[in-house]
Amino acid sequence: MRLVIVSNRVTIPDRHEKAAAGGLAVALREALETRGGLWFGWSGNVVESDANAVRTVQRGKVTYAVTDLTEAERQTYYLGFSNRALWPNMHYRLGLTEFSRTDYAGYLAVNRRFAKALIALLEPDDVVWIHDYHLIPLAAELRRRGVRNRIGYFHHIPWPPAEVFGALPFSATLISTMAAYDLVGVQTVVDVRNLVSGLVALCGAKVDGDHVKVGRRETIVQAFPIGIDVEAFRKLAAASERAATRPIKTTKETLGERKLVIGVDRLDYSKGIVQRLEAFGQFLRNHPEQRGRVGLLQIAPPSRSDVPEYAELDRQSDEVAGRLNAALGEFDWTPIRVVKKAYSRNALAGFYRRAQVGLVTPMRDGMNLVAKEYVAAQDPADPGVLVLSRFAGAAQQMGEALIVNPYDTHEVAEAIRTALAMPKSERIRRFERLYATISATDIGWWTHRYLQALSGIELAGAESAPANPQRRRPVARKKAPMSAVPKSDGSNPAKPRPKPRAAKTTPVSRPA
Ligand code: UDP
Repeated sequence: MRLVIVSNRVTIPDRHEKAAAGGLAVALREALETRGGLWFGWSGNVVESDANAVRTVQRGKVTYAVTDLTEAERQTYYLGFSNRALWPNMHYRLGLTEFSRTDYAGYLAVNRRFAKALIALLEPDDVVWIHDYHLIPLAAELRRRGVRNRIGYFHHIPWPPAEVFGALPFSATLISTMAAYDLVGVQTVVDVRNLVSGLVALCGAKVDGDHVKVGRRETIVQAFPIGIDVEAFRKLAAASERAATRPIKTTKETLGERKLVIGVDRLDYSKGIVQRLEAFGQFLRNHPEQRGRVGLLQIAPPSRSDVPEYAELDRQSDEVAGRLNAALGEFDWTPIRVVKKAYSRNALAGFYRRAQVGLVTPMRDGMNLVAKEYVAAQDPADPGVLVLSRFAGAAQQMGEALIVNPYDTHEVAEAIRTALAMPKSERIRRFERLYATISATDIGWWTHRYLQALSGIELAGAESAPANPQRRRPVARKKAPMSAVPKSDGSNPAKPRPKPRAAKTTPVSRPA
C-alpha cells in the first residue's frame, strides 16, 4: 500500500540535504520514506504558457512529481481564490474577502489539471492524502474520473461557522465536494462543528456521529490537532545555550539584563501583529517602571507580498512600531524591534529559550506551531511563560498558558505584566503540564493517528470493484477507528505512541 501526498507546494530535497529540526514537511517525508510513496504538487515555478508537463525526481523511496503553474494560474488559483477569498473567509475575515469569478474558475481549473496529472501516476492500492485549502475539490475531480482509491484530506487552517463560509459565492458547491473524501481531518473540535454544520446548512447533509452523508457519498469528519517535533526542538534550544552563533550571541550582548518578549509570525493579518505591538505599547504605558527593562522582538518574515492586504500590513506594522518607539523609547533603549526576515529553526530555538515571554496572539489560527515551539524550547528549570490567544487552535490543548483575547489590548498588556512577574514555581508548574501535552501529541503522533484512521476505514465493495464508481461508499468500522479520535484537548489515552523520529527539515509549518 503506497502513500501518495498531494499539496499545493512541493519542495524537492537536495540529494545530500542536511536539513534542520522538526516540522511537518519532514514528518510527511518520513511517512513517505517508511512506506515508499509519491509526493505531488506545484513546483513553485511559474511559466509563460503550457504548464502541463509533470517532472518526476526520485529521492530514496520517494518519488517527487511536480508541475509548474502559468502566470494566469498563479494569479487566479493561488493569489486570487486561495489567498484573497478562502484564506480571509476561513480566518473569519469577511471584510477582507475578495471574490472574483475569474479567480474561482482558475481555482477549479487547476484542481482539474492536478486531478488529470495525478491519475496518470496513481496505482490501484494507493492511499491518497491531500493537504489544505488550495485543493478542496481535488477528490471530487478524481472521483468524477472514476478514481476509487482511499482519499483523505487535512485542513490546516480554521473552518469558519456556516454563516461566514456561506457568504462566499459557490460555497455550497465547494463544501459539498468534501464528501468525496473518505476522511476529513481538521485541527479542533470547533472546526469539526463548523464544517459539519456547514455541510448540513449549505447542502442538507445527514449526520450520524462523525459520519456525514451528502447525497450518496459519505465522509467522516474528525479533529487531529497537529503537533511539532518536541524532542528535536528541545535539543536545538538546549544546544543554543552553548552556541556562539551570531544571532544568539548578539541577542545576549545587546539585551544584557533586560528581559525579552518574543513574537514569531509570518507577516499575515491573521496573526494580530499590529494589535500585539499596540498591546506592548499599552503595557509600557500602564507600567512605566518596566521601561528600559524589557523589549519586544517581533520576527515577521514577509509572505504573499503580491496580495495587496499583505503590503498594507507591512506598512502598518512599520508605522505602529515607529510611533511606539518614538513615544516610549530612550536614547539607550528601543522598546520594539520588528525584524522582517526569516530565521532558521536553530536561531528561533535560541530566541525562544532566551525569551521570558512568548507572545502568541493571532486573531484566528488553525493551530499555531510557534506556541508549541516556544514551550518545547524552554529551560525546564527556569521556563518562560506563554501568552496565547484563545482564537488559536493551540489554545484548546494549552490551557496552562495565559489565555487572552487579542482584541482586548488591555487584557494582553496585563497578561504580559503577569507573565513577567510570575513566580518560578508557578512557571514550572504550567510549563510541565504544557510540555507533557505537546509531547503526547507531537508530529509523529499526528501523522500516525491520521494515517491509521484513514487506512482503518472500510471501503464498501473495495474487494470487488463496483461497476459504477459513484456507488462506492466508505463505511468506517464501528469501533476501531473511533478509538483513534483525539479528544478535544488533543489527548488520546488509547493511542499507541509512535517513537518520535530524528528530525530534519526546511522551515515550513505546512506543506503549502
Ligand atoms: N518559522 C521559521 N522561521 C521564521 C519564522 C517562522 O522557521 O523566521 C516557522 C516557525 O518555526 C513555525 C512556522 O514557521 O514552525 C510557522 O507556523 P505556524 O503554525 O505558527 O504559522 P503559519 O505560518 O503556518 O500560519
